[in-house]
Amino acid sequence: MKKNITLYAVIMIIMLSVTISLFSLYNLRKTGIESAIHNAQSISEVVKSGLTAHMINGNMDQVETFINSTSHIKNVDELWLVRSKHLNEQFPESKLSHPPRDEFDEKVLKTGRIHHYIEEGITNSSVRVTIPYNAVAEKGIDCLKCHNVPQGTTLGAVSIVLDISTIKEIGIESIYVILVLILTTVILFILISRRLINPYLTLFDKFKLNVNQATNGKFKRINPPIGLSKEMVKLTQEYNNLIQSFEDTAIDIDKKLQGYVGYEISSKERNPLKDSKEIINNLSNLYQFKKQIELDNTKEEIYNRLAEVLLNKFKIKNFSFIELDMKKYKQTKIKEVGHSLYCKDTILNNPELCRAARTKNDVMSVDFHNTCPYFNNDEKFYYCFHVDISQNLYLIINCVSDTKEELERIKEQTVFVKSYLKESAPSIEVKILMNALQESAFRDGLTGLYNRKFLEEYSKKMLPQLKRDNKKVGLLMLDMDHFKAVNDEYGHDIGDKVLKELARILNETVRESDIIIRYGGEEFMVLLIGVTNETNALNVAKKIANNVRENEIDVYAGAKLRKTVSIGLSMYPDDANSFDSVIKNADIALYEAKNSGRDKVVRFKEEQISSIDLF
Ligand code: GH3
Ligand code: MG
Ligand code: MG
Repeated sequence: MKKNITLYAVIMIIMLSVTISLFSLYNLRKTGIESAIHNAQSISEVVKSGLTAHMINGNMDQVETFINSTSHIKNVDELWLVRSKHLNEQFPESKLSHPPRDEFDEKVLKTGRIHHYIEEGITNSSVRVTIPYNAVAEKGIDCLKCHNVPQGTTLGAVSIVLDISTIKEIGIESIYVILVLILTTVILFILISRRLINPYLTLFDKFKLNVNQATNGKFKRINPPIGLSKEMVKLTQEYNNLIQSFEDTAIDIDKKLQGYVGYEISSKERNPLKDSKEIINNLSNLYQFKKQIELDNTKEEIYNRLAEVLLNKFKIKNFSFIELDMKKYKQTKIKEVGHSLYCKDTILNNPELCRAARTKNDVMSVDFHNTCPYFNNDEKFYYCFHVDISQNLYLIINCVSDTKEELERIKEQTVFVKSYLKESAPSIEVKILMNALQESAFRDGLTGLYNRKFLEEYSKKMLPQLKRDNKKVGLLMLDMDHFKAVNDEYGHDIGDKVLKELARILNETVRESDIIIRYGGEEFMVLLIGVTNETNALNVAKKIANNVRENEIDVYAGAKLRKTVSIGLSMYPDDANSFDSVIKNADIALYEAKNSGRDKVVRFKEEQISSIDLF
């Protein structure tokens, strides 16, 4: 910059000087030539007067001497006269014969106008001027008195060659002087620019560099160079103050944001402004995310949203969400995107082996040794995030990458991924608690079986679906025989134990897809979902009755108790289209079983309705 400005200034000075010089030289030459022509005109007037005088006095024979003497005038190289044909015609006897020397003379005689040209030699220059003598009739001089020609006729001409070498010499001298002046100006300029302009240019360069660095987050102060004006020094100090407060603010914002996000950026090449912008961007996204999950209804919706963030924002392609309940040693795989969970065989059976859950820390692939021995793929890399949902419930996010670079990318983003996980955890916990609460509202406290409330919800939601799928339901209504007697004889605790035993037998006897409900005190209902026909339903009922009959219950001091159940069976939708009617029918069949001696399974039949003895 500095060099450029000096160079441009020097070139401009030289160009300006050269232009002015050329213009002056041109003017000098022009004026020189004009003054030579003017001189020639004066000489021609003198010659003309001389000639006229000689003519009037009748001593034309001395004209030559006169002409010779005039040609000795200073700077006059040559001087000659030419006569026109009019003179020769009028005075043919004249001894003076001055024919035109060249075409130039002829031209002037012909046109009657003054002409000149310049002869340039190496060492000298001259201007040749040929001036016509035209016949005039004026007060002082009347050519027509002697000359028998019309007014204005060219009678002759005088050619004068004047030496103008002096102009050239002056020009050359001027060039020398100009060169010396240019050189002196340039040297002076460079010296002055060093003294005066340099500090400003240096300051400008420093400003340029510092502003550039400031945009990249490096705030540096400027040391003002010596030689600046007071105003500039003040301006530099103000700039330094501005940069200082800028740096303080940027660092402050950055630190606060880092603290808020909960991590420290380790990289040396930091740009607090850029980092802050990135953090604010992330915080804003995180805030939006938080707002959305607060409105989510189910835990699954939250996990889906989290999966979208991992996939779209953090570009993690393969991952699974696993909930590990360390109290119950139970795991639940919630969601899998892409291919992950290469530890499935071990972890899903033995959740306590999960290193991330056990150590309550993130676990990731590292070079040279396998951090997690249960990850069964040597070609892939993993990063398992550990998130505390509640005291003994952890969320493990198993991310798998195909390349090391991808893993590095995940590692770089962990802070931001974790901020999303941190925000999700409380909402997931709330949803889990709500699920548990809802679950407990549908469960019977003594046996852990579903209660009647559940039956209401279930029949509302699931039965239409079963109907659409053309599935039958076998409805068993069970009642323990002479249960009151157990209470009376052994007390309510044993009575409770007997009920729990019955619940256990039911759980063990029917399929997992079947639904067992504690319908009332010692009345139970079993829904055999998708049972193919009533024979199969009857067989299940008989199996239950059998298992209950054969089961021995310890009551006290080695005493054992055996109980029986009566079961009524009704089929949905074979027996009735309304589920309530099917329940009623099963109840009627149960009544029938009780009536006909207990410890029986009775299939509902229409005729049982009329035979019911209600009172
Ligand atoms: P059967 O059904 O054979 O006609 O005779 P039962 O003795 O079983 O008749 P009933 O249905 O009248 O007796 C039911 C008894 O079950 C009455 C009630 O005290 C008892 N019971 C109901 N709920 C519970 C419970 O949760 N725990 C205990 N221990 N007893 C209960
Ligand atoms: Mg009963
Ligand atoms: Mg009973």
